[in-house]
Amino acid sequence: MLTRELIARLPKAELHVHFDGSLRPETILDLARANGMTLPHSDAEALRAYMLVDDARDLEEYLARFTITIALLQTPEAIERVAYEIVEDAARDNLLYLEVRYCPVLSTEGGLTIDQVLDAQLRGFECGDREFGVVTRIINCSLRNYHPAVSIEVAERSVAYHDRGVVGFDLAGGEAGRPPGVHREAFDIARRGYLGITVHAGEAAGPESIAEAIFECHANRLGHGTRLREDPALMNYVRDRRILIETNITSNLQTHVVASAAEHPVREYLDRGLKVTLSTDSWLMSGVSLTDEYWLAHTELGFTRKEIELMIFNAFRGAFISRPERQALLKRVRAELAAIA
Ligand SMILES: [Zn+2]
Repeated sequence: MLTRELIARLPKAELHVHFDGSLRPETILDLARANGMTLPHSDAEALRAYMLVDDARDLEEYLARFTITIALLQTPEAIERVAYEIVEDAARDNLLYLEVRYCPVLSTEGGLTIDQVLDAQLRGFECGDREFGVVTRIINCSLRNYHPAVSIEVAERSVAYHDRGVVGFDLAGGEAGRPPGVHREAFDIARRGYLGITVHAGEAAGPESIAEAIFECHANRLGHGTRLREDPALMNYVRDRRILIETNITSNLQTHVVASAAEHPVREYLDRGLKVTLSTDSWLMSGVSLTDEYWLAHTELGFTRKEIELMIFNAFRGAFISRPERQALLKRVRAELAAIA
């Protein structure tokens, strides 16, 4: 019998969670107070409800909530604190591995450099890892609305930080009408610098965006990939090349990419042999933990314990880490699973 408690105890990995979408409401209140910033609510639970994006009409409205958190992530101290707390929260959900993504340019509005942003994130993650045993790595995002030159700069700094904990490069932001191939040069730099590549694609735009992510931007993984099923030939290609799909069911509901959890294509993808894993997109804005997502997949889409364990293993196997690191993590996963059984 699969219960939510059992899923909570399973050792897990999350590959798709946004730094600026995963702050604790209490921390937002603290940081706003220190900055003299006025928030729509002064109570943590009311603020949590406000930040939960359940009334967005589309992806653009969904992203609007992030202006609050980004405004607070403009000092090394704030960034380091949020990074540390993310690792602590990950440990509470029994995550053994975590890739946190963020566009460091967003934290340069107050005068920080990209390197200072990355240094602060790394300090927080390393401290959290030491204390809570969650191996945490960074994926740097550029944004679709940026000039390609900004993406190139983010890619170059990502490569420079590769041996310090930046393991991947991504393109995020409003997808509709903004094809990823515009940023191809940045992806070329990331690939030549041996970074893992994932691209938000097939969320607000269709399979043509996914194809461009794969063929122009060298995507090893796809963020969302929700609309992949609209192109069966491309779907077969993604299956055959073992391109991992980072699925975010709740987030897709909030941005109305799917009408209900029961209709989410992740069921079809797994049944057809595609490599999929579940992730949250954002702990605060999506209002879910990774356990919540797997539980939702069980209750709404009928995923069995075996299928959930397969999706968890897919996350560890698709992580942008070295083979020795992966093997060490898988050893821990198997030991924990054996203890639960
Ligand atoms: Zn995302």
